[in-house]
Parts: sequence; structure tokens; C-alpha cells
Amino acid sequence: SVTVVRLGHRPGRDERMTTHVGLTARALGADRVVLPDNAGQSQETIRDITDRFGGPFEVELSGSQKALIRNWEGTVVHLTMYGERVQDVETEIRDAHADEPLLVVVGAEKVSFDVYEAADWNVGVTNQPHSEVAGLAVFLDRLFDGRELDREWEDAQQRVIPKETGKQVEPVGEKE
Ligand code: SAM
Repeated sequence: SVTVVRLGHRPGRDERMTTHVGLTARALGADRVVLPDNAGQSQETIRDITDRFGGPFEVELSGSQKALIRNWEGTVVHLTMYGERVQDVETEIRDAHADEPLLVVVGAEKVSFDVYEAADWNVGVTNQPHSEVAGLAVFLDRLFDGRELDREWEDAQQRVIPKETGKQVEPVGEKE
């Protein structure tokens, strides 16, 4: 399983970013996101999308992100521009993930050094500064080797029919 933990949330300013961390985690194959406990509005939006477009996907709030990381029973990957190159470590991480739950840590503002120390891998998606949403998306796609793109969704109320042009959304009927 894959859990994403978001460190830090400045209400107002980070609302969209935190929401997008959750939506990206969900869309690209993670099972759960843990947001800071002041990010209730983002939690609501992500739950609403999961209700409409399917799951399973869990959205939790926590006041103790650091403890979650410290006590994680499994592998901890911290995404940071200062880390090892994703293309150099992805195979090892994939192997570890086959055996035990993976926790992916993304920051908002400056991430304190204890997180770097608690991580099994500090991983850079390039060593250039960009965004937690972009870093997470590329990392998950590498982890799952593209298979997340074919994922089936459960308990959706609606689904998008892919189209060359235009928008088509259809309601999903009751399961037989
Ligand atoms: N300047 C902050 C620091 O030094 O810790 C990081 C701020 S950055 C806007 C927010 C988050 O985006 C980071 O904590 C990291 O998780 C992610 N991020 C940014 N660039 C990244 C990269 N090249 N590779 C992986 N993650 C990245």
C-alpha cells in the first residue's frame, strides 16, 4: 500500500496545493493521504471527488505527521530537490514496496532536517526546485511503472468517457 503524507499547510494560501496533493495521490494510485489537521477544507474536497469518481481512497487529518513518519512500519520516501535522483533509486524503492507499506512524504514550506534523517530514501525528481504535486505525480508513475493509468475505480457515481473532442460524463449504474 502507499500512503502520502503532506507536511505543513498554510490555511488560505495552501488550500489548492494541499487539495491537489490529495487528488494527485488518489488519481495516480496511492491508497491514502494524511493531511495536517488544519486542512479540513482540502479533506472535504478530496472526499467529495472520491464519492463522485470512485475509490477506494482514504483522506485523514493528523496533528502528528512527524510521529507518523518516525513510527512508520515500512519504507519512508521523502521527496526533496536535494535527494538522490529518482531514476537511480526507483528500482530499489519498488523492490522495498513489494514487501512493505510505503510512506511518501511531501513538504510545503521548509522541511526540517529530522525528516531527512527519518527517511529511508530522500528522492529528487530532478534536483531543481518545483512543486510537491509535480514531484508526487512523477514519483508515483515511476513507482507503479505506468500501471496506475489503467486502474479501475470502485463505487463511482460517474465516470468520464474519453473523447477526442468534447466532454462526456455518464452516471455509473448499480453493480450487478
Ligand atoms: N524550499 C523548501 C525546502 O527547502 O524544504 C521546499 C519547498 S517546495 C515548494 C515544497 C515541496 O515540493 C518540497 O517539500 C518537496 O516535497 C517538493 N519538491 C520540490 N521540488 C522537488 C524536486 N525537485 N523533487 C522532489 N520533490 C520536490
